[in-house]
Formats: sequence, structure tokens, C-alpha cells
Amino acid sequence: MIDQSGTIAKVKEMIGESSHIVVLLGIGTVIESGGENIWSSRECYRIEELYHKSPDEMMSVGYYSARRDKFFDFYKREILGREMKPASLFKDLRRLQKTGRIRKMITQNYFDLHSEAGLKDVIELYGNVKNNICPRCGKAFSVEYVKNAKGVPLCDECKSGIRPGIMLFGEKINNDLMTEAVNACEKADLILVLGTNMYDNMVKFCTGNYKGDRVVLITKEEHYTDRFADYVIHDEVSNVLPLVM
Ligand SMILES: [Zn+2]
Repeated sequence: MIDQSGTIAKVKEMIGESSHIVVLLGIGTVIESGGENIWSSRECYRIEELYHKSPDEMMSVGYYSARRDKFFDFYKREILGREMKPASLFKDLRRLQKTGRIRKMITQNYFDLHSEAGLKDVIELYGNVKNNICPRCGKAFSVEYVKNAKGVPLCDECKSGIRPGIMLFGEKINNDLMTEAVNACEKADLILVLGTNMYDNMVKFCTGNYKGDRVVLITKEEHYTDRFADYVIHDEVSNVLPLVM
């Protein structure tokens, strides 16, 4: 393995100097917590074999509207069905957040690992699995309620189908959240990109207006776009964070 100690020391020094860090949380932080990336090639293959559709199709607003029973069958099993526990990286981020150096966190993940770990001020671009709402009367329902429902989960007040709190394929990200994310990154003195790559839409979009030269990418997998980050450390985020704080 390449010696990364020079980069690690430099990143540690920069984090120590920063007071407006923005943290972008990618899918790698879910995987380190015991989750799965249903868009990885291995998972795509498994899902296509099992459901005869791609994860994009299964998670689309069109499928949700047309085949709600099958959508929830998939959603409960593949999205809500996996046991996860926040990886140690979340504890380290909490520690960093308590020092006041972090301005904002932005996540593309809709699992609730960040609040479970006590992180605050997180922009959830794609929603959160815990925000289940009845579209007719507005009543909120827990993940457990949705998970344990037989077939399509129905509101216990008005019997309407409950809408999961995450963004589906074919839906647009809330404009206010996007603006907030872009503004936070624009004013950042350092951007920490964790568990994803520079090709990721969230990363491209959020770092688009950033004029600084302190984009730090920490991720396990190498990618041809790594050169778009100013500093790159290849390893699990949970291994690296204790070394740079
Ligand atoms: Zn209702």
C-alpha cells in the first residue's frame, strides 16, 4: 500500500486551522455501518435476478404509483430490512462537530445513521426513511410501523397509503435544500468528502461553486475522478478520521 502519512499529516493540520468545514456524507459511510449499496454492480445484478427490474426502476416514483404493493415489498426488504449501526466515523464527526469547526453536513443517504449518532445540522438531500407521512391527513409514522405493516402500509386514521420519507427516482430534490447545500459549500474553508467519489452528483453539485483548494476526499475505492480532489486518502473513513483530528 502507498504511504499516505504525508497527506494525513497535512489534512490534520488543515482541519486544525479550519472553522467552516462542510462534510459530505456518501454511501461508503452507510456501507461501513453495515449497509449495502443497492446501486453497486453486484447488488444491481442480484436485484435484477430477483425482481426482474433494476434498482432505479424499483425505486422510481412511477413504480411506486403503479405497483405500490410490489414497491413496498421491495422497500421493506431491501431498504428497511438491513440491520445497521453507525460506524465509528460518526462518533468522530460528532467530536469534530462539538469543537465548532463544522459549518454544515450534507448527506445523500436516507438512512438515519447521522441522527442516531447524534450529529446535528445535517441537510438530508434525499429525505430520511423515518419521515413517513400520510399524504391525506399528515399523520407521521415510524419506520417500524411501515416495516411491520402487511402489504402497503396504511394510515390508521384515514386508511390512505403512507408515503415513505425518501426521494424516489424521477422526483426533484427540494430547491431550498439544494440552495442551502451549495451556499454552505461556497463559504466553506475546507470540504470533507467522505465515502464516495468526485463523480457523485451530490459532490459535483455541492462543490461546483467552491473556489478554495481544500477539497479532501477520504474513501476506500479509487476512482478516475480522484484527481479533482485536492487531497485524497484511500481507506475506510472510520480508519482515517481518528488520524486527521
Ligand atoms: Zn391519514
